[in-house]
Parts: sequence; structure tokens; C-alpha cells
Amino acid sequence: MDLTTLAVHAGERAVPPSERPVSTPIYASSTFVPASAGALDQIAAGAAPGYMYGRYAQPTATALETAVLALETAGAAGAPAVCLSFASGMAALHAAILASGVSRGDVVLCAEEIYGATLALLRDLLAPLGLQLATAPVMDAAALAAALQRRPRLLIAEAISNPLLRVPDLSALAQAAHAAGAKLLVDATFATPLLCRPLSLGADFSVHSATKYIAGHGDTVAGVVTAAAAEAAGLAAARKLAGGVLAPFEAWLTLRGVKTLPLRVRRQCESAAEIAAELAHWPEIEAVHYPGLASHPDHAVARRQFSAQPGARTTAQDCALYGGVLAFALRGAGRDQVFAFLNRLQLCLHATSLGDVQSLISYPVISSHREVSPRQRQRLGIGENLLRLSVGLEAPADLLADLRQALAALD
Ligand SMILES: *Cc1c(COP(=O)(O)O)cnc(C)c1O
Repeated sequence: MDLTTLAVHAGERAVPPSERPVSTPIYASSTFVPASAGALDQIAAGAAPGYMYGRYAQPTATALETAVLALETAGAAGAPAVCLSFASGMAALHAAILASGVSRGDVVLCAEEIYGATLALLRDLLAPLGLQLATAPVMDAAALAAALQRRPRLLIAEAISNPLLRVPDLSALAQAAHAAGAKLLVDATFATPLLCRPLSLGADFSVHSATKYIAGHGDTVAGVVTAAAAEAAGLAAARKLAGGVLAPFEAWLTLRGVKTLPLRVRRQCESAAEIAAELAHWPEIEAVHYPGLASHPDHAVARRQFSAQPGARTTAQDCALYGGVLAFALRGAGRDQVFAFLNRLQLCLHATSLGDVQSLISYPVISSHREVSPRQRQRLGIGENLLRLSVGLEAPADLLADLRQALAALD
């Protein structure tokens, strides 16, 4: 054969080695050669598993999806479920919303305290196509019941909200949603599968920005959706046709993150609990928001929901975990003092995102809640002096020392 032909084909598609790699390699292949034309026909018809084209499915992403599915359904009674990966948390949310079956004229009910981009996706991209967007304070059972009178097709809430870390009772939400004829989509990014597995609590879709805890190293953007098997076809169609697939390298990085997820999250929760308890004693700190503190309004719900789930062995049965994120308010600080505090920090990085091995701090009024009006922010309890801290893997004493020295900015 000609060199040009060899250059394209030599070395590729070798028979699989009998020595299997311990970690799934990056399958950087956009398409797949079937064993036979008949086999391709079967795969295309969905009658046999297999790979055909990178936008439909590819092996590195499948390995990640298998791993996340195992965590999300750990201890569950065995109701079949599926997991698909996406190019980002937003692509995952978009696909889950499409897969829920909402169509023109349907009402989508969204928790008031929701990630800003989720609200913007519904309001700016989907409402113009005919969805009706409604919001409700899901922590208020009476207000939620009133909102459900509009018979939404879909209810969207977060397992732990941003930035005040409110924790709704997901079983109660699922019951209320289903009684009103709605499906429940839970964004469980802040909780991780370690604290809570929404499908086992009755949710229809569990979505993660895998950019955060699941990948966990601040080096990739990714998303995952886990759903009841009944949603598999809709979810696969949404991914195949909207095209928000996770690329092989990002799938590989995320899968690498999964391996240490339980160890990282446990440690981050323990450190966050220690830091929250300490900050609550500092006179310069006006308030600490952390579900692990008895003072948090949802402490009891979190305690019940984030611990003993029937049959789950890898989770926090022995001691409840409350997440690796906390928020705190600097006493009497205005925007200038908060800026000065952030600029003095050495170890806590002032950066968007959370769930990474590095501790990340964010200032909601200029980031996640920038687009929310000051009046609405006040109603939600998000003040000009509120900061959110995602605790990383550093020693808590070092993080506390960093926070302490930065408080000089308030003098
Ligand atoms: C970051 C985040 C998203 C969006 O995920 P991307 O990976 O940035 O697209 C959605 N929900 C929550 C709660 C998030 O923190």
C-alpha cells in the first residue's frame, strides 16, 4: 500500500489486548467500524448495544456514565436507571428538561433559589419557545402547594441551594410534584451522590454539574443526568440531536475524578463543618450558613436526608455529612470592605465554581446573583456582606488562618 494509505490506517484498530488496561483509555475516535453490516444495522436500530458514531455514544464516556450510575443508584431497590454525560452541567440540565416531555404551553415550576443560569435557560431560551415559567419558594410548603395548582409538567429544585445552602425535603417535593402531575428534576451538584441520591427519594431526574465535585480538580467542564429507565430514550434523543456530548478527554478526566470522589467529599464535609463551627464564634462574622450547624433552618431535614439511606453502604450512615460549601456574612461590611477582604486572601482562591480540591470563595452579589435585583436578593437573604466558601482539601487550620488574616481588611 501507498505511504499515504499506511499513514492513515497503520497501527489503528488493532485487536484488543488480552491484558486489559486498569483505566479506560481516551477513545479519541469519532466513529466506529462495526463487526459486520448486519451488526451496524442492529446497533442503529437500538436492538443491540454498541458504538457507531461519537455523538451517539463513545467508550470513555460510557465508562464514566457506568461509574456515576453506580454511585447514584447505590443501595436503591434496583429500579432500572440510566446515566448520560454531557458537555457541561447546563447541557445536562437542558437535555433533562427536554427529556421530561415539556412542550409548548406547559408550565415549568422552578425553585426560587436556583442556579442563575438554570433560571436564565428557562427564561431566555425556553420560555420564548412556548414554555411558561413559574417560580416558587420550595422551602414553603403552602406556597409550593399554591404554585402546583397551575399543574406544571416539571418541577426543578436543588438538593442544596446556592448560596444559603437550603435543603428541601426531596421525598416531600417528589410526592407533591407527582400528585400535581409534574415530574421532579433535582440538581444535586452541591450534594454529590455521597450525600443524596435523588432517584431513591422519588425524583425523576438527577442532574450534576460534574465540573464541580465529580470531576473535582478544576480542570474540566462536564455534566451528567441520571434518570429512571423510562426516560432513557428521551434523554438519548436530546443528547444525540442537541449534540451536547462530553468529549473523550473530558470524560476521562471526569472518570478520574470519580475514583476519589467519596474520599474528597468526606474530607471536604468534615473540614467545612469544622470551619463553620469556628467561624460562628468569631465576632467579625455576623452569620454562618451551613446545614450542619444546629442553627441552620434545615438542619433536621439535612440530617435525615443526607445520612442513612436504606441499603447504601458507602455513605454517611455513621455520621451525617452536610456538604463542603458554607456561606458567611462579614459583620457590617459593605462592598468595598468585602472586596478588600477578598483581595487579602492568599489560600482561598477568589474564583467562580466549587467542589474543587482547592478552596474557592465567591461573592454572590457580583457573581451568581449579579442578575438578581437588589430587592429580590434582599428577599432571598443574600446580603452585600455575604460570601460563599467551597472548602477544598487543604488543612482546615491553614484555611482558618487565611480567613483570619484577611479580616484585617475590616479594620
Ligand atoms: C455550575 C452549576 C451548574 C452549571 O454547570 P456547568 O458545568 O457550569 O455548565 C448548574 N447547577 C449548579 C448548581 C451549578 O453549581
